[in-house]
Amino acid sequence: MSGGSLTPVTEEYLRAILDLGMSGRSVIGRRLSDSLGVAPSTVTATLQRMGKEELVTLNERKEVRLTKKGAAHAIAAARRHHLSERLLIDHLGFDWARAHQEAERWQHALTEETERLLWEALGRPTHCPHGNPIPGTGACFSPGTRWLREAREGDEMIVERIAERAEADENLMRFFARQGIVPEAQLVIEEIVLSNGTISVTTPHGPVVLGLEAAAQVLVRPKESMPLRQFPTQWQDSHTAVNTSRPAVEAPAQ
Ligand SMILES: [Zn+2]
Repeated sequence: MSGGSLTPVTEEYLRAILDLGMSGRSVIGRRLSDSLGVAPSTVTATLQRMGKEELVTLNERKEVRLTKKGAAHAIAAARRHHLSERLLIDHLGFDWARAHQEAERWQHALTEETERLLWEALGRPTHCPHGNPIPGTGACFSPGTRWLREAREGDEMIVERIAERAEADENLMRFFARQGIVPEAQLVIEEIVLSNGTISVTTPHGPVVLGLEAAAQVLVRPKESMPLRQFPTQWQDSHTAVNTSRPAVEAPAQ
């Protein structure tokens, strides 16, 4: 499948819908407007157009679902984005905190053919440098994964990934990098003060206090949970990947 026929804006929407779905939230216009940083009226108009292009459907509760065609395009766009990030960081030494924005430009140049060649050349990665699984590579989530803000005091957790929507916030990404809040770092949850909106953790760089908003952008898994990364990695075309990425396609309502 070629993702080349879609506009960059459409691809951005598809990836945002895929990302919201993967984080287990129902995908509604307001959340899309928040994560894309555009006006709700623009989101509504774009979703109507994407509905006509048979990329998404809206149910009576105004929840957005990707069609199979939409999911295949979304998966292709996500893969090209994650592979661009890997190339930028692993081989060009590009800044971890800024790679997301740079990859937004690079991803549109990849085709299905170069996508696969790049994946092979990069050593068949299953995750982006921020820990997000690359769909259609055998990647999956580790058991017990939850948002950092849902952890409890005394928990010892491993950083699984930084949410896609946080990656566009360069300041936040710099803060995470400085504090050692990066994939596979170990965190100890010291204190949670909901009335103060803070969560104190110890990272490999020392103690740090996070706001609950920042803590809602970090996914962690229990220290004893085995990461599911040993699976043999295998490339699937984007249509096959739709069937193995079901949580992304059928997000539960909440
Ligand atoms: Zn990333």
